[in-house]
Amino acid sequence: MFLLYGRMTAKITKHPDPIIACPNDNRHMLNVVIHQLYFHVFFIPFFPAGPTEVFVKCSICEKTYRNKKVTAAYSKVKHFWYLFTGLFLVVLFFLAVGIAKLFF
Ligand SMILES: [Zn+2]
Repeated sequence: MFLLYGRMTAKITKHPDPIIACPNDNRHMLNVVIHQLYFHVFFIPFFPAGPTEVFVKCSICEKTYRNKKVTAAYSKVKHFWYLFTGLFLVVLFFLAVGIAKLFF
């Protein structure tokens, strides 16, 4: 049986941070981008796998930085429900099989 699985990265959120200036061009056009690794089976996310990664990306020069203060502030972002879609589908499948066995 062919099983396609592995880890992928999901972009959880991206929002502007007007306080920090870009070290390259000194403009205040930075976005905080939060990524989360997740385990997938056939590209369906099952659960988060690994730490949350926080980047600061300049929207003008497109350079990506890591900022310790920003990482500390945003690293406790909650995992989003869609990263557990595969587990939910497995539970739903077994519930459906259990209910079907009760009535048929
Ligand atoms: Zn820049």
